[in-house]
Amino acid sequence: MLSNEATRANTPAFTTVVPGLSVLRDVFVNLYYAFPQDQPRGPWVLIDAGLPGSADKIKKQAEELFGADTPPTAILLTHGHFDHVGALHGLLEAWPNVPVYAHQLELPYLTGRSSYPPPDPTVGGGLMSYLSFVYPKHPYNFGARVEALPADGSVPGLPGWRWVPTPGHTFGHVSFFREHDKVLIAGDAFTTVFAESGLATYTQKQEVHGPPAYFTADWDAARASVELLTRLEPEVAATGHGIPMHGNELRHQLADFVTRFDAVSRPKAGRYVPLPATADGVRILPPPVVKPWLAALAIAGVAIGAVALTLAGKKARKKKGKKRKGSKNYTSISKTGSRRGDQPYRAWYRDDPAQPSAASPTADQRYSDSWSRKIETQYP
Ligand SMILES: [Zn+2]
Ligand SMILES: [Zn+2]
Repeated sequence: MLSNEATRANTPAFTTVVPGLSVLRDVFVNLYYAFPQDQPRGPWVLIDAGLPGSADKIKKQAEELFGADTPPTAILLTHGHFDHVGALHGLLEAWPNVPVYAHQLELPYLTGRSSYPPPDPTVGGGLMSYLSFVYPKHPYNFGARVEALPADGSVPGLPGWRWVPTPGHTFGHVSFFREHDKVLIAGDAFTTVFAESGLATYTQKQEVHGPPAYFTADWDAARASVELLTRLEPEVAATGHGIPMHGNELRHQLADFVTRFDAVSRPKAGRYVPLPATADGVRILPPPVVKPWLAALAIAGVAIGAVALTLAGKKARKKKGKKRKGSKNYTSISKTGSRRGDQPYRAWYRDDPAQPSAASPTADQRYSDSWSRKIETQYP
């Protein structure tokens, strides 16, 4: 049963939240099995789809709950970050007729049209933030399997629930709310664990916190979303990260947290703190925050490179000359987006930002792009 003093040590990975809602913790992210309160064997709906590689685990749990060969009526996504859709390809293969629903504004990231704004490892808070530069952010492509949530707020497969737009963490982030008993599935709009901290993520100590900061691209919108969810006065908060909380303790922490949102949740500094990224693909991309140690690392790299080139002698200098020509080409071609090797990735961004200003320097986009390609080829 629900506890507000739960930790990883005393809470199994799979547990009942309330009748009609069960949670599976997949390493550090949650996904939910929702079904009518009076029909524990289904029909049922899956909310979010965990980490890459966890499809079998998710299916096995579903079979234990609802029996073999009982796919969900739908899969609902709070948003499309890798830890919420990682197993979706595998699940869709196993369940070939199951539709997926997400907010209209989340579709570019789920149909291969846009990458998310890059994560920001400079927001601080702990290991999970520092490691975020390796988190995948490429667009997944689920094609026609994913469609927009109904505009009337209803939730496919879940009568009695409605979806609530809660942008900020991502542009098309949504939460789900069962009105009659005030059960809230909040995704990453807020969390019940200090998600930036490696230690807290390990222990899963319950505490109301903001959206995972390293992936949050619009802090004003994120605060407005938490304010909205607080006004719903949820009895239960089942979040994307952290063990679900409930009752007065939840409402008290949430009400207190929302008044201090800017002080405790919004990072002191970070790429998206002064200026948010904006939707419709990435239109404005604030430059990365360069930390002194990062600059030192870059300078050391340049110094090593220079020594290596010097030692390589005349031949290398000729090659270097050619390389220079190449980089000239790169600059001019990248402006038009016509270099074949770069095209697939650059297509994820809009090449014609609405306001071509210092806020969206092409060089910074290229910097991010090259990093992303590197990370994605390394990622299974
Ligand atoms: Zn997220
Ligand atoms: Zn998440």
